Amino acid sequence: MYRAKNQGKRRASLRAYERRRREEAKAALIKGGGGACRQCGFTDVRALNIDHVNDDGYLEDGRFRTNTVKYQRHVLKMIKSGRYQLLCANCNQIKEWERRRRQREITDLKHNPMLLANFAKKAA
Ligand SMILES: [Zn+2]
Repeated sequence: MYRAKNQGKRRASLRAYERRRREEAKAALIKGGGGACRQCGFTDVRALNIDHVNDDGYLEDGRFRTNTVKYQRHVLKMIKSGRYQLLCANCNQIKEWERRRRQREITDLKHNPMLLANFAKKAA
């Protein structure tokens, strides 16, 4: 009876606890990553993201997909390895834009033998 009556309260307190846990894990991660965007020095944590330095996020296995706190702790442990870095949302977006542009150029070369020949000539 008590349990049923207080279910709403219990849920709210569990949510608050989990939010605190996530915020603490993120704060530790931001601190461990130097507290600022590696590119431009921006420090507002609301727009700081973890970036995979070598764009190899797709190699990350699925075990963290549903557990943000576990993932953030893993990244914190690994952040000195150079695999991850803090980037602000703008620098992260620009990096992604540049990656896609390079990818497009490679795709264009693959589908255009003339371009590829010219590119090889220039490189030689
Ligand atoms: Zn930045």
